[in-house]
Amino acid sequence: DQKRKQRGSIGVFNQTLFNQVKREQYLCEHLRYAIDNDELCVHYQPIIDVKTNTLSSVEALLRWTCEGENISPCVFIPLAEKSGMMPEIGAWVLNRALIDLSHWSGASEVCISVNVSIAQLLNDEFIHILDSALATTQVPPERLTLEITESVFANDEELVSERLQALVTRGVKISIDDFGTGFSSLFRLQNMPFNFIKIDRSFVQNGSEESDTIIRATLLMAKEFGCKTIAEGIETNEQREHLAKLGTDYLQGFYFAKPLELAELKSWYNDKN
Ligand code: C2E
Ligand code: MG
Ligand code: MG
Ligand code: MG
Repeated sequence: DQKRKQRGSIGVFNQTLFNQVKREQYLCEHLRYAIDNDELCVHYQPIIDVKTNTLSSVEALLRWTCEGENISPCVFIPLAEKSGMMPEIGAWVLNRALIDLSHWSGASEVCISVNVSIAQLLNDEFIHILDSALATTQVPPERLTLEITESVFANDEELVSERLQALVTRGVKISIDDFGTGFSSLFRLQNMPFNFIKIDRSFVQNGSEESDTIIRATLLMAKEFGCKTIAEGIETNEQREHLAKLGTDYLQGFYFAKPLELAELKSWYNDKN
């Protein structure tokens, strides 16, 4: 009886694992055709300048509708990374975002932030893809910020800084995303040429003394490094006031707007102005 129970639980475990593997396989197979099937789309979330209370920039966030079902980027981006599809998908996002920005007349001050994954950044084609996207859309490089998660800085140091240097040379800006969650050493970060630090929403939303201490330390460090700060995940007016009072330069979160379709973004912007 004991044996059967054990076998039973192993069976259940295998079944769960099997389903998960099957699910990943299914998503990977579909993701391969998502671009051609028009299943990908980019939404844009406003980033607000605290001093002027105006729209400074929008963050491009990828969306995937797989056979009618919305799959979270937290699920499919890691799969795309694992299966080698990220450089192609990332290139698609970058082009889409720059095309959308270049066609958005009447918002010539607004900048755009695009997330770049480690596989994309380290891909040999990356700089070439970037250059041709900028050239075809005629978007000034200064209007583009690339968001790179802090964990990236734990990778191949020489190659990462070589890539970042190539961005700096072009005038493209660099933002460290999800700051405080990535276990990268401050020593390494100090040598990286970034323009923005994005304080992870876990600190913003936690509200504890400890989180505030980390936020204050981050703001102080950003000042020393000469870079601007963005707080993610502002959902309430209280959080907005608090982060502004602490001295954050820019704010982003559902309080201002959730990620919006391009048309929604434009009407949101027109309503605001
Ligand atoms: P991220 O770059 O840190 O993006 C911010 C995430 O927080 C987005 O989730 C956004 O919808 C969400 N968010 C914004 N404001 C709030 C808020 O007030 N409250 C809460 N709870 N959440 C908020 P999303 O769109 O699901 O994206 C998740 C992650 O997937 C992104 O985190 C980014 O790491 C990755 N991702 C999304 N699009 C791309 C892409 O085009 N390329 C790459 N490489 N990664 C992407
Ligand atoms: Mg981001
Ligand atoms: Mg982030
Ligand atoms: Mg985040």
